[in-house]
Parts: sequence; C-alpha cells; structure tokens
Amino acid sequence: MEDCIFCKIINNEIPSNKIYEDDLVLAFLDINPMSKGHALIIPKKHFNDVFDIEDNYLERIMLVAKKISKKMKDGIGADGVNFYHASGIHAEQSVFHFHLHVVPRRKDDAICFECAVMSKPGISEEELKELVAKLKIEG
Ligand code: AMP
Ligand code: ZN
Repeated sequence: MEDCIFCKIINNEIPSNKIYEDDLVLAFLDINPMSKGHALIIPKKHFNDVFDIEDNYLERIMLVAKKISKKMKDGIGADGVNFYHASGIHAEQSVFHFHLHVVPRRKDDAICFECAVMSKPGISEEELKELVAKLKIEG
C-alpha cells in the first residue's frame, strides 16, 4: 500500500533491522524500542489491523512470536517477554499496518505494563451479565 511505512520496509524502500522473514511475515527491530531487542512482526501483505487481517497471516505471526521469544530468552538475556498489539486510534495504534510488538523483559527493567491499569471501572452485577451476553461467542 502506498504511503505505508511498513509496506516500504517489506519492499526494501526504507531500511530496517530484519531478524526474521518467511513467505508470509517479516520481523524487525522497533526504531524506538521499549527495551533492548524490542521487535515487531508484520504480515507481508497490507492489513490495517486485527479487524481485517486474514487468519493464515495471524496464525503465522503468533508462531513466529514464539520463535522470537525463545531467541530473546536464549540469545539476549531476556527472562520474559510481553506481546503488545494496538488496533485502532483509541487503542493508540500509530502505524496502520498490522503489527505485533514482542518486548523482551529483564529483571528490574523500567517497563511496567501493569501500571497502565490506572483504574478499574466499577461495574454492577447487572452490567457484568449484560457485557458477558454481548461478548459471548459460541465456540
Ligand atoms: P503502534 O504505536 O502500536 O502502532 O506501534 C508502531 C511502532 O512502530 C512504534 O513502536 C514505532 O517505534 C515503530 N516504528 C515506526 N516506524 C518504524 C520504522 N521505520 N522502523 C521500525 N519501527 C518503526
Ligand atoms: Zn502496509
């Protein structure tokens, strides 16, 4: 897609620090890392977000996330990882080509994902039941 920075990375129009590539996905280091080794995994076909990505791409991204996580543990001294993803402006997505962040974590790093939970919204039993009814998907 024209004017998509990640499509430009896929097409080698702009440089990136690639760490993995196959027929469906590409992974490279984030230009503004939350921690040393912070990587992004993207589909090689343009999808905006989780709402339009095709299942085979999403499946591959998760399998590659596992591989990269193991590499982070064995190769760069991470003892954990966080997967992070944003779909939509109000979820703070800033690049509108689907991507999964893989953030390596180490003891005493300065990151705090839990801290993002500023306040848990109060909710009545009735609202809770209504929410469950509206979100329920038959498996
Ligand atoms: P998000 O805000 O979740 O949409 O994440 C977009 C991510 O893309 C940010 O973490 C940026 O640092 C990263 N990013 C933007 N441009 C580039 C680039 N040219 N190369 C690598 N990472 C990038
Ligand atoms: Zn794109």
